[in-house]
Amino acid sequence: MLSRADGIPLSLDLTTLAVAATFVAALIGLVLLLASRQDRIPALAWWGAAYLLGGLAVGVWCVEDLVSPPLPRGFGSAMLFVACGMMWSAARLFHGRPVLWGAMCAGATLWLALSLVPGVLKASETRATLSLIIIACYTFITAAELWRERRRALIRRWPALFVPILHAAVFLFPIPLAALMPEQAGMLSLTSGWIAVFMLEVMLYVVGMAFIVLVLSKDRALHVHKTAAMTDPLTGLFNRRGFREASERLALRAKPGGATLSVLMCDLDHFKSINDRFGHGVGDATLRLFAATMRSTMRTNDIIGRMGGEEFAVILIGGSPEARAAGERVRVAFEQAAAEIRGCAVGGTVSIGISAGAAGLPFEVLLRQADAALYRAKAQGRNCLAVSEGLLDVEAGAGDTPDADPTTDQAGTEPASGRASVAA
Ligand code: GH3
Ligand code: MG
Ligand code: MG
Repeated sequence: MLSRADGIPLSLDLTTLAVAATFVAALIGLVLLLASRQDRIPALAWWGAAYLLGGLAVGVWCVEDLVSPPLPRGFGSAMLFVACGMMWSAARLFHGRPVLWGAMCAGATLWLALSLVPGVLKASETRATLSLIIIACYTFITAAELWRERRRALIRRWPALFVPILHAAVFLFPIPLAALMPEQAGMLSLTSGWIAVFMLEVMLYVVGMAFIVLVLSKDRALHVHKTAAMTDPLTGLFNRRGFREASERLALRAKPGGATLSVLMCDLDHFKSINDRFGHGVGDATLRLFAATMRSTMRTNDIIGRMGGEEFAVILIGGSPEARAAGERVRVAFEQAAAEIRGCAVGGTVSIGISAGAAGLPFEVLLRQADAALYRAKAQGRNCLAVSEGLLDVEAGAGDTPDADPTTDQAGTEPASGRASVAA
């Protein structure tokens, strides 16, 4: 092992650091490219390509003085700015936002354009300050893009913001510091000494950010799979499993305040005959239309799901009067919207059963009661609502109805159009 005792001084020379930074960036760039192929995440490919370009840029930057011409002076820096722009673009792609080619290349374009104007980038201080500002700008907007994603757990969002901001701060630090230095020292000597710090910090940043983006993309892939497992592909509503989980979350939120929950079970009337008369295509369009009608008539906090076939359910915070009003809105809106679908006189209607109970009540009890009410609505002639009598209590458990709900309409009320609403 080498040690100071052996008389060999340990020093970090810039060339060694630059070579190490190039190889680290290139190696991690390749890893990200491979990961992007495996997980089919384009943002990772962009990030990996940015690292490869960045590594190449550092290499060019080291040798451009030796080979210039043919390489124009400042070409390595321009490549580095494009690499920074590509990382920002990758962060945008993470959220499905498009790549802004102009903005991505703006730093490099500005740099090359100013290089062509004689005298503007002549002073080393000006070149160094402009480079630091361009890199810091891209890093800040990359951090802002990564911060936009609100679905992730906070613990994962903090590093995604903190690491790039720290990186940008390291790059900006020499600018105010140079102002405090004696006249002769200035930016040049400061940045010359600062380059070793940059190189080390860049290597840490490259490794740290690669780790963060890999975690973010795994997170995203998991979220996509989870969403797919909870969603009905035909209507985009929750499927039975998603509905159940979302309803349990709603019940947990409603429980401390002792709120009442209501369930609406909706079943399209004579749906088999719609399929038989007009074909499955029109049948599917009818299901999608009903889902759209529910989305537009229900409140944003209400949970809507497709329970299977032509059966849908809604759970909302509120008692039977609110549920009855919401159900009636859906029934009337659907009757009007489904009169004609794709030029066919479908005449679709829906029957709805409603139950209401305390938020701590087992989910199955509310569903069972709403189902029983739906059965009665069908028996009453369809295209109507039936409300389960009484407010189910937590202790009621298996479905007793101890407190008769005074709001339950025993005689039924006549909706604005169509059939009567019946109380069970
Ligand atoms: P009721 O008024 O008593 O509810 O009668 P119905 O015809 O609506 O009920 P039934 O249970 O007899 O028929 C439901 C039909 O829904 C049978 C099934 O082929 C059809 N169906 C279930 N899922 C889909 C789907 O995804 N698309 C289409 N087009 N039809 C479906
Ligand atoms: Mg039906
Ligand atoms: Mg059915």
